[in-house]
Amino acid sequence: MDLHTLSVAELAAGLKARRFSSLELALHFLGRIERLGPDLNAFITVTADRALEDARAADEVLGRGEGGSLTGVPIVHKDIFCTDGILTTCGSRMLGSFVAPYDATVVARWKAAGTVLLGKANMDEFAMGSSNETSYFGPVRNPWDPGRVPGGSSGGSAAAVAACLAAAASGTDTGGSIRQPAALTNLTGIKPTYGRVSRYGMIAFASSLDQGGVLARSAEDAALLLAAMSGFDPRDSTSVDVPVPDYAAGLGAPLEGLRLGVAREFFDAGLDPGIERRVRGALEWLEAAGARLVDVSLPNLPLSVPTYYVVAPAECSSNLSRFDGVRFGHRCDDPRDLADLYKRSRGEGFGAEVKRRIMTGTYVLSAGYYDAYYLKAQKVRQLIAADFARAFSEVDVIVGPTSPTAAFELGAKTSDPITMYLNDIYTIGANLAGLPAMSLPCGFVQENGRDLPVGLQLIGPHFGEQRLLSLAHRYQQETDWHRRVPPGCE
Ligand code: GLN
Repeated sequence: MDLHTLSVAELAAGLKARRFSSLELALHFLGRIERLGPDLNAFITVTADRALEDARAADEVLGRGEGGSLTGVPIVHKDIFCTDGILTTCGSRMLGSFVAPYDATVVARWKAAGTVLLGKANMDEFAMGSSNETSYFGPVRNPWDPGRVPGGSSGGSAAAVAACLAAAASGTDTGGSIRQPAALTNLTGIKPTYGRVSRYGMIAFASSLDQGGVLARSAEDAALLLAAMSGFDPRDSTSVDVPVPDYAAGLGAPLEGLRLGVAREFFDAGLDPGIERRVRGALEWLEAAGARLVDVSLPNLPLSVPTYYVVAPAECSSNLSRFDGVRFGHRCDDPRDLADLYKRSRGEGFGAEVKRRIMTGTYVLSAGYYDAYYLKAQKVRQLIAADFARAFSEVDVIVGPTSPTAAFELGAKTSDPITMYLNDIYTIGANLAGLPAMSLPCGFVQENGRDLPVGLQLIGPHFGEQRLLSLAHRYQQETDWHRRVPPGCE
């Protein structure tokens, strides 16, 4: 049996029926990580001992006939989540030797649900990037074509799950970092409503945008894992006290009558024609299955990239000020004085993209430019949120592409940050408005004889996660794009 291609739901059923043990499962995945992991560079840390310990504990629980739908299931965490006693780098030299003294809430909740931790996934430095090329630990490769990027910033999580090195992974999404890598690696990824998942112990990039979520191989798996990480947390003041539905149990909803908003701004000149064909194909399928396609407009959406690249750097410049070599982070050798200590520690600890964001953020927040940039961006952010609110008075879900292109070649965009930033043109709006959004596989385009995955994006109203997951699940019951595994990873 190919244990690594089973879904989380299938793994849970097999574990419960004792067809295989959690220990066997952990050893199987650890073996694959050893074989396939180094070339992909998907992991910063492999926690083999911890995985075996978790698996033995899960087997004990299962042996008593207890445990839930995630007991014994092997997962990885993006290295942005603090894990007690385990290296937590956030993809940066700044935290290159940081061993977290506590678990993030997401980590604690998945642990309490009985998951088995295989390791910590590579990521863009401080989650800043769309290609996983800003990581201090080197770029991650896309299992569909090792010459291409897996997307970012949750690129290690995506590559690990896509290559079947883990059943699922956590990720974070500030401007698209769950959905875009999911799209580029043929996964189902969900970023829930802002406030749905606790940010406690999730290293902050842009606090008003950051949200934890899941990368998995199906909507059903995403539903199980999202429910397990969601819910109110008194340790995060932006966590919202709204009950968490049993997403997996609610997956049956029919498509008939569902109003799908096709926003014209998602089909602009920047969209690759091959991607557009696949996305339109999925929309036709949904229409044939009973959903109604409605044209909508989000007129301020084209402003989302410039707005985001003022707001996110502003917040990051503040959040990252704590890494000063005194309280937190890398400290330079033999500082001459305090100023030298700050300058060299930060100069050595941060990479180029992080420095670019800190400088931009400091600039837009400075007394002379605050009104012209930061305040203006906050106003446009409200306009974008209002566009979505208006659209959701007419439709139930907004649909479109996740990413304007398929996976691109390593190095193709690294010298031009603006081109890189445009990868997130379709995803950033949901973050600015705090809305739940997901990406699911809807076909492939061919480049140089390789199949490259295409993602369909769904955006819902606040706390509309169930609606998105149900729609995705219906689609996945009838299509098999999401079941395809990269060549060599079968
Ligand atoms: N690519 C975007 C950025 O570089 C979004 C990253 C993210 O969602 N963490 O900021």
